[in-house]
Amino acid sequence: MTSRLPIRILAMCFVASLMLSSCGTDSKDKASGSATPSKTYTWKLVTSWAPKFPVLGEGAEKFAQWVDSASAGRLRIKVYGAGELVPGLEVFNAVSAGTAEMGHSASYYWVGKVPSAALFASFPFGLNAQQFNAWYYGGGGKDLWEEAYAPHNVMPLLCGNTGVQMGGWFNKEIKSVADLKGLKMRIPGWGGKVITKAGGSSVTLAAPEIYTSLERGVIDATEWIGPYHDYKLGLHKVAKYYYYPGWHEPGTAFELLVNKKAFESLPSDLQEIVRTAAARANIWVLSEFEAQNNTYLQKLINEEKVQLKEFPKDVLVELKKLAKEVAEEETAKDAQAKKTYESLMAFKKNILEWNKKSEDAMRPYLE
Ligand code: CA
Repeated sequence: MTSRLPIRILAMCFVASLMLSSCGTDSKDKASGSATPSKTYTWKLVTSWAPKFPVLGEGAEKFAQWVDSASAGRLRIKVYGAGELVPGLEVFNAVSAGTAEMGHSASYYWVGKVPSAALFASFPFGLNAQQFNAWYYGGGGKDLWEEAYAPHNVMPLLCGNTGVQMGGWFNKEIKSVADLKGLKMRIPGWGGKVITKAGGSSVTLAAPEIYTSLERGVIDATEWIGPYHDYKLGLHKVAKYYYYPGWHEPGTAFELLVNKKAFESLPSDLQEIVRTAAARANIWVLSEFEAQNNTYLQKLINEEKVQLKEFPKDVLVELKKLAKEVAEEETAKDAQAKKTYESLMAFKKNILEWNKKSEDAMRPYLE
């Protein structure tokens, strides 16, 4: 009996090793599809951000590093700042054409090309980051986004969010809607259309032009992002009042754009690594915004003595009414945009009920 035991153990090990190696071969074959598993890929990732731009440029770099280390160097991605390979607003076209295999940007820049793209970043009084994540991962948002970009040979992956932005910097107080009349504000997209409906005018300026335009009175007010980036741009030096909340961008989502054909050419394990790293970057970017905004709001209040002001309720109620008009006018022009808007609004209506019984109900007791 004792002499036969080692033979039985050896036999079991042999069978087990056959099973393991056979499992290994199967999974390798499955993972590789038609592609060669050992092939190394070198890709380009173009962004709409200045090189190393805080949080967003950093997030794109981290994504590339995570893919590199998870794939043991089989998928290497070089990140380019705006203008280094293509201009920031050419990212979608570059990925679509395959000039770059990947891009990191915000969908609302492509509204001229894909009308529903206005809805996959942020829109006035839309969804906050948590609601948008829930819509994307669990409420049908992912499919609608993919459907919108598929004709352009682009696959989107949710990849970051600013959280609620700030309302912006003003040199006069906004006490009523009448104070918006004649106001010239740097506020792009649908937010700008709302300001125009309220009697003001909106302009779109890139980041480097904002400070001097406000300093010289070319514009009366501006929004940018939140305490961290606004502080870095020095906007507290050229405006008296810092208003909240950022009604026009309640949570701006970012996208990782992938050339669809290039993605489909990857072995499936590398495809999963890309999806997983994008999801990690999604939570990293939002968390970094939250952590830094928290620190820099304190700096603005305590060190720079910035005057923080909340928009009066009747101003926000009126802006919300005008925002609904803008959204309905804009989405009426395109069936995909209308379908996406209806999906978002239906999802929000329901999740607000849940939020009232969960997040909102807890809020007073968290303070
Ligand atoms: Ca903004």
